[in-house]
Amino acid sequence: MTGGERGLLVTYDGIVVGRREIGENSCFIDILTDEQGIVEATAHGAKKINSNLLSSAALFSYSTFCLNKNKMRYTVNSAKPKFGFHEIGTDIEKLALASYFAQAVKFCTSSEQNQLESSRDSLVRFFAVALYETLHAGETRTLAAVKAAFELRYSVMLGFSPNLVACHNCGHYDCERGMYFLPRKAKLVCADCLNPEFEGERVLLLSETLFAMRNIVFSPLEKCFKFSVGERAEQQLSQIAEDYFLYRTERTFTALEYYKKL
Ligand SMILES: [Zn+2]
Repeated sequence: MTGGERGLLVTYDGIVVGRREIGENSCFIDILTDEQGIVEATAHGAKKINSNLLSSAALFSYSTFCLNKNKMRYTVNSAKPKFGFHEIGTDIEKLALASYFAQAVKFCTSSEQNQLESSRDSLVRFFAVALYETLHAGETRTLAAVKAAFELRYSVMLGFSPNLVACHNCGHYDCERGMYFLPRKAKLVCADCLNPEFEGERVLLLSETLFAMRNIVFSPLEKCFKFSVGERAEQQLSQIAEDYFLYRTERTFTALEYYKKL
């Protein structure tokens, strides 16, 4: 502080979802927070090797940030790392997927208002779990499954929850002849109730796919990525989740296009 006006000190737990270099030593970082959405803050000297912000200002670092707020501008005062996901950077596919997640939250999270009023889940916690699952993909589940879970659960958190409880018409949880997902209407209809003339776009779900979708939508955050599907169901789930997310958010993401080209 060089005297004059002192700002207000605020503390947030957050994850760095964007970073832009300024000059030789400093950078702007976009911090995802539950309280203020995306907060842009200047991290002075963060690129110096002896800086105590070196690891906290890195992309995907999860830290407690103490910020100085002055006339709507934030400066990082200090930061205490909670978890670093920097190892994601050693795998180009994982890095590309995590970058898509970061772009998605940056585009869909308002920085002015307290966001996610429709959801009681912590977005920061969700993002941390998504990064953790991305980092560990390949061990118990594939990157494609992690991506699908992110897209579907994040849609729910944004208020676009599909109704996956039961057939919209008869209320049955399952049907011997199968269940259809109607992506544009965000609901299920069983094969007995389906009216081919009126229902429009639809997908006959593999039972594994429906099981996975219900797990993603209804589980507590920590468990929404934890399911296993066979190859065919994974393909179906991937298509449904990506289409659903892009249609609901009305966005295209350059980071997604890049990921898909790899
Ligand atoms: Zn029915």
